[in-house]
Amino acid sequence: MPNSPAFNDLGLKPELLSNLAAIGYEQMTLVQARTLPKLLAGEDVLARARTGSGKTAAFGLALLNRLDATSYRVQALVLCPTRELADQVTNEVRRLARALPNIKVLSLCGGVPLGPQVASLQHSPHVIVGTPGRVLKHLKSGSVNLGTLRSFVLDEADRMLDMGFAEQLDEILAYVPARRQTLLFSATYPEAISDISARVQRNPAIVDVTDDEAPAQIAQYWCPVTRANRLAELAAALQTWGGALNLVFCNTKVDCAEVATYLQSQGIVAVALHGDLEQPERTLVLARFANRSASVLVATDVAARGLDVDDVDTVINYELPKQSSVYVHRIGRTGRAGKTGIAVSLVEDREEWRLQGIAEDIPGASLQERQIPDPERSSPLLAPAMTTLQVSGGRKNKLRPGDLLGALTAAGGVPGDAVGSIDLFDTYSFVAVRNAEAKKALQQLASRPIKGRQYRVRMRK
Ligand code: AMP
Repeated sequence: MPNSPAFNDLGLKPELLSNLAAIGYEQMTLVQARTLPKLLAGEDVLARARTGSGKTAAFGLALLNRLDATSYRVQALVLCPTRELADQVTNEVRRLARALPNIKVLSLCGGVPLGPQVASLQHSPHVIVGTPGRVLKHLKSGSVNLGTLRSFVLDEADRMLDMGFAEQLDEILAYVPARRQTLLFSATYPEAISDISARVQRNPAIVDVTDDEAPAQIAQYWCPVTRANRLAELAAALQTWGGALNLVFCNTKVDCAEVATYLQSQGIVAVALHGDLEQPERTLVLARFANRSASVLVATDVAARGLDVDDVDTVINYELPKQSSVYVHRIGRTGRAGKTGIAVSLVEDREEWRLQGIAEDIPGASLQERQIPDPERSSPLLAPAMTTLQVSGGRKNKLRPGDLLGALTAAGGVPGDAVGSIDLFDTYSFVAVRNAEAKKALQQLASRPIKGRQYRVRMRK
């Protein structure tokens, strides 16, 4: 980030400042530079910023700077739409708080037993990060008291509303003091966000960083399709705009499976990720996409949450999502870290209202209509460069990546640079090898013992 200001002049506690240097945060991100002066002055702030913008550190630093560490009362509450996000926020706030002595940050999310949470609450944390349903449960049962709250943060507020948390938010507000700082972060500004801001905030400063940030890096196209040609148009769109790693989003599990099967029938190496997969299959699908032995991953939004790959070349919406916030999250998988990305949405006549909704909710989203094929661009979809081999041993056999690499390259084996990611699990491992060397690699691994034991090896499709 050229010319971004440093954190020095904000008046942060010295412990926070020295820790920032220790964790390598030297310059503020855009959202931090624009919000922190206001946040630290105690103002309410309504900020439009995406995941990846550094928003967590912005509100995390603000709430930590306000904390009175000697008072063992809950002073800050961060509400998140999902457990995954709450976990990420908890980790980031703990990291930022490392140099402040005795700060307790507690995560309160659904899906885990109440008992241990109640036990943790006996010694009041300074900061709580949680999902609305579970926080409300603790408030109602009296295991949490928010009477001394100073900072209240709603993170990804748009998704929280999409997920139907509005009522629970109102209920939680009844337990929170009126005098407080309230921060609202959201990737999009549908009208419901202004409504909720009006209910929970006082004269908020409005900070918008998405316009300067994301959209320029992501070319957004939409293509008219019909119900009958949708699958064929998807394959053609991949052939036109696809790169080495492509993510196709479907709204349902059924579509996911159907789409992947169709793409495979067209010779495209596609894998499907959806909630119905058993764990070993899921692991294989994720490994093959991440190690580049599958070039297209077809996923539902829920399934894609567990996906660790953020720098895909192209995102295709087989169908537009119903909510604009989901659209923003989907396309945000591409165009990361200064790279350019492409997002393509297939739209039937009867779905054009969704397109309009997105254009209204996201001022920066200028979707251009394109025909398939696009005369300006037609690169045949890259076939994956790698093949995945599965070895019948893993961590429980005390195998390490070096053992597998050693076996592959030993005595006239495959060259080291033909070997890609090596992923070890308890009882099996995946090794990615360049296609041209895959057969040789398989023979090499299958014909010699590794650490004194012979393992079975097969190619995975
Ligand atoms: P977020 O948007 O909060 O999910 O943050 C995105 C990522 O940027 C996280 O991995 C942070 O650890 C990292 N990050 C946040 N602020 C900074 C900064 N000022 N310098 C370097 N990395 C940062």
